[in-house]
Amino acid sequence: MRGFNLMNIVGIRVVIDPSWLFIFFLVVWSLATGYFPEAHPPIQGGAAWILGVVAALLLFGSVLVHELSHALLAQRAGIPVPRIRLFLFGGVSEMASEPQNPGTEVRIAAAGPLTSFALAILFYLLSVTGLPSLINGGRQVVDYVAALNLALGLFNLLPGFPLDGGRILRAWLWARSGNLLSATRTAGRAGSVVGFGLMGLGFLQLVKNHNLGGLWLMVIGIFLNQAASASYEFLLLRDTLSGYRVRHIMTQPVITVPEHASLEELANEYFFRHPRGSFPVTSGDRFAGMVSLDQLKGVPREEWNRTPVRQIMTPAASLRPLDPDDDCATALEGMVRGVVGRLPVVVGGRIAGILSRRDVMQLFKIRSDLGS
Ligand SMILES: [Zn+2]
Repeated sequence: MRGFNLMNIVGIRVVIDPSWLFIFFLVVWSLATGYFPEAHPPIQGGAAWILGVVAALLLFGSVLVHELSHALLAQRAGIPVPRIRLFLFGGVSEMASEPQNPGTEVRIAAAGPLTSFALAILFYLLSVTGLPSLINGGRQVVDYVAALNLALGLFNLLPGFPLDGGRILRAWLWARSGNLLSATRTAGRAGSVVGFGLMGLGFLQLVKNHNLGGLWLMVIGIFLNQAASASYEFLLLRDTLSGYRVRHIMTQPVITVPEHASLEELANEYFFRHPRGSFPVTSGDRFAGMVSLDQLKGVPREEWNRTPVRQIMTPAASLRPLDPDDDCATALEGMVRGVVGRLPVVVGGRIAGILSRRDVMQLFKIRSDLGS
């Protein structure tokens, strides 16, 4: 996964997407060249840049606190949150599963905006005490962070899934119909509508007022649109494939390549005869690794005769083979994330079958065509 680790808090890994660094610079730049020079009293030059960095750090810290509030409530409801990813305009708490019931979903979703509002009030009160004014520009920083926390809370309440407001909408629909899937579809459509709305608004701002902030809104709109349809599709996939285990659709028996075979044999006896992207490799009757067409192509042809498969394969130790009892949707998720087309199914060190992305998608198609 793209991004680098910032820290670990209560067992949650906080990952920063590279896009964040760009946004960070953009925020500092707009503060140093726009907000501070136009503030009362105006602040210019180096001081404006330093205050810009301070304000941006406080703002991004606020986003992190917002996400942490979701994550902590999710954890309290028994939903593991392995990771918080901070990117573009905000963050995502990556929950390992959907909330068990609408009530839990509302609590987890509402925590974020409520936290942002609390932070806004906190910074506002701090500004009122007059303490920040002791430092030149201090009040402007605190006012800015208060205003942005208020905006963050309000924005997240927009009723489009997967924004917090959209999650609350979904919980409400879910509570009414008892059907999580249809609730997600409707809330996701609302997410698309909000996304298109933001894009349109951004476009107008860009064209009519020549305001670059419009570009910002457009990016957020596009993102929201994609996220809305992706989360519905994923849930549909999960729902359609629920109850299916890897052993139900894995391919058996498996064509395996002995590890001492040469690449020449690998090409002629395997890839040409059975057109697939990869084959499991065995050592005796033990599963030893996987070898792919790309790995074969990486070796010059004149070396094929004297190179054994063992030398170019991905060894079993660096693969995460499936278990026959693994859930199909989870397996597919792993394949999509790892960009692999076929995963070995291994029992007690021996290969028991192979699961291909195509097989899972085929099952998904059949199940959705026939209706489940
Ligand atoms: Zn949120």
